[in-house]
Amino acid sequence: LWKETLEAIKNNFKEDTFSWMSKTSLFRIEDGIAYVSYRSVITKNIMSDSNTKALFEQYLSEMWGEAVTITLMHYREVEKMMPEEIVQRRTKELVQTKFNADYTFENFVQGKSNQGAYAACFHCCIEDTHTFNPILIYGNSGLGKTHLLHAIGNYLQKEIPEKKVFYAYSGDLVSILIDAMKTHNVQSNTVEMVQAQLIDNDYFLIDDIQNLTQSSSQEIFFKVYNSLIAKGAQIVITSDMHPNELEGIQNRLISRFNNGLPINILKPEFDTSRAILRKKLEGYEEACQINDETIDFLAHKFSDDVRKLEGSLRTLIFNATLENIDVIDLPFAQRVLSGQLIVAKPNKLTPKQIKKVVTKFYGLSYNEVEGKSRQKKLVTARHMIVYLCHETLGTSWTQIGQQLGNRDHSTIKSSYDRAIKLLKTDTAFQIAMNKIKDSL
Ligand code: ADP
Ligand code: MG
Repeated sequence: LWKETLEAIKNNFKEDTFSWMSKTSLFRIEDGIAYVSYRSVITKNIMSDSNTKALFEQYLSEMWGEAVTITLMHYREVEKMMPEEIVQRRTKELVQTKFNADYTFENFVQGKSNQGAYAACFHCCIEDTHTFNPILIYGNSGLGKTHLLHAIGNYLQKEIPEKKVFYAYSGDLVSILIDAMKTHNVQSNTVEMVQAQLIDNDYFLIDDIQNLTQSSSQEIFFKVYNSLIAKGAQIVITSDMHPNELEGIQNRLISRFNNGLPINILKPEFDTSRAILRKKLEGYEEACQINDETIDFLAHKFSDDVRKLEGSLRTLIFNATLENIDVIDLPFAQRVLSGQLIVAKPNKLTPKQIKKVVTKFYGLSYNEVEGKSRQKKLVTARHMIVYLCHETLGTSWTQIGQQLGNRDHSTIKSSYDRAIKLLKTDTAFQIAMNKIKDSL
């Protein structure tokens, strides 16, 4: 990006002036500030000239796709401070997780299948002596594990805000730890710093532990884990299988996971499925209703996965609104869901499919959206992909990054923030979003 900028302004300057300028590099762009490092005072003086700076800013803004101002820094300053700062900022981002407001204890329907998991999660919030540590909840996808972790976070933030809660997908945690290891050097103790930040919590919630397979991350995680237990913090972990079946996770970790309380969360029994459907319907009752026969039908067909159960309900309501139907009955449900009963279409959506639909919508190729160019259309398409993956599938920042040419966690997170802003301010973006959602 910086090379392109230099290339673009080259002809405005004398050759020797330009050669001083070209000894700069762009360190990073954040919050509209481009950090540019220089090595010599001569370069600094040339670059500090207000006309020159303005010209750089103009070109850089165009290529970046957003207005940026340039801050000049000596390269030593950059080398010394930046890695720590970046790692610290990323960890802080994770620490300040906002929990999904819908995933509360109140909104969680209890039944035999999930009572144990619910009770353990709720009790660890209201009791200071953490009898079961860690609490490990395991079970298939779509049975409410993430919901319960968020419920702990929501509850504590509201009722006991002084408690520090840390939540992360294990994949995102790994990417933080790898960053910390990469930037660790004599001057900056990033690994210890991140460790300290992780330990400084009262609740430590790790989602989908099965993805913590990177071995050097496990080393750090092991230390953090032991310190947390030693100081009496509560650890809650979810996994898609019993700890003993986890692959690629060190035995000493597995034996610790078994120390506390592994709880199996099962698919909801028929009555629970019905109750979940009723609960999810609460928000829609004005718009349309569903008769009991249809509720029973859905509860039978989709109880293997609550995500699918919810999805079927949403599909029905969506179609009923389109066709102006007030009460959804069985024939209507069978007609609308007939395709889905065999292939469960809306639920098979993957990040990759979202990428496909969005790139097609904007007339782009995968190479373009995965590549480095900051052309406006490309940037917008990336924001769209990030937003849709996160909102509709709950894909982690790291996994979204993998779809987009291995962009890192914090880039994806800021892209998401940007999409939220665009959704509020940019009509073209809103319209595009609706069209894309329809075709998904
Ligand atoms: P997992 O993390 O186990 O894959 P999630 O926690 O993401 O599953 O749950 C998938 C969806 O199902 C979420 O929208 C969640 O709110 C819903 N869900 C699962 N179990 C329940 C339940 N017992 N009551 C209400 N909603 C539930
Ligand atoms: Mg989950």
